[in-house]
Amino acid sequence: GLYQESGALSLMYEKFLGHGYDRDQVLKIMQDRLSAKRFQHCLGVEAAAQHLAQVNAYDREKAGLAGLLHDYAKELSNDDFLALIDKYQLDPDLKNWGNNIWHGKVGVYKIQEDLGVTDAEILKSIEDHTTGSGQMTTLDKIVYVADYIEDNRDFPGVAQARQVAQDSLDRAVAYETAHTLTHLIDRKLPIYPQTIETYNAFVGELRY
Ligand code: GDP
Ligand code: FE
Ligand code: FE
Repeated sequence: GLYQESGALSLMYEKFLGHGYDRDQVLKIMQDRLSAKRFQHCLGVEAAAQHLAQVNAYDREKAGLAGLLHDYAKELSNDDFLALIDKYQLDPDLKNWGNNIWHGKVGVYKIQEDLGVTDAEILKSIEDHTTGSGQMTTLDKIVYVADYIEDNRDFPGVAQARQVAQDSLDRAVAYETAHTLTHLIDRKLPIYPQTIETYNAFVGELRY
C-alpha cells in the first residue's frame, strides 16, 4: 500500500512501554483484543503515522507506536468504560457519550494499565485522536490524520485527504474535521464540543 515502508524500523517500542514489551508482544496482545479488521486498521495507522512522521521530520518510532495503539480500547465494553471513568474520576460528562468518544479519552487509561505506556505525548495523541483539539501537537496531528488516510480506508474523499496530507498536515486536519462534522450533522449525531474547537482552530486552513 501507499504507506508501507520497505525497511523495517528497529523494534524499539520497548523504550516507550513500561512493561518492557517489544512490538511483536504488543501485536499479540492487540490481536487477542481486537477483531481482525480493527487490528489491520491499527497496522495501517502505524504505517501511515510513520510516513507522516517522515514527511514532517518527526520521530517515526514514536509516531508509529501512537498510531498502532490509537484504537487499542475500541472493543472494550460500555461497562468497562464506565468503570474506568469512575476508577480514574474522569469528567462525569463523559458518561453522556459513547464508544466513539470513550475509546480514546477513556481508552488511554486502559493502555496505561495493560502496556505501561507513560509517554505523555503518545497518551495525549491517543486521547484526542477522535476529536482533535484546539491545541494539537505535531504528534496529535499525525495520529489524527493517519487514522483517516491509512491504506485500508475507503470512502468518498479519502484520495483527496491523502493528497492534502502529503502537502500540509494542518490542512489535512482541517479537511478531516470539516468532513467529519458534515458526516455527523448529516446523521443527526451529537457533536462533542472539543470537535468544534478543532474545527475553529483549523478552519482558516480551508481558505487558501
Ligand atoms: P475509528 O475509531 O478508527 O473508527 O475513528 P475515530 O476514532 O476517528 O472516530 C470514531 C467515530 O467517532 C467515527 O464514526 C467518527 O465519525 C465519530 N466522531 C468523531 N467526532 C465525533 C463527535 O464529535 N461526536 C460524535 N458523536 N462522534 C464523533
Ligand atoms: Fe478511533
Ligand atoms: Fe482508528
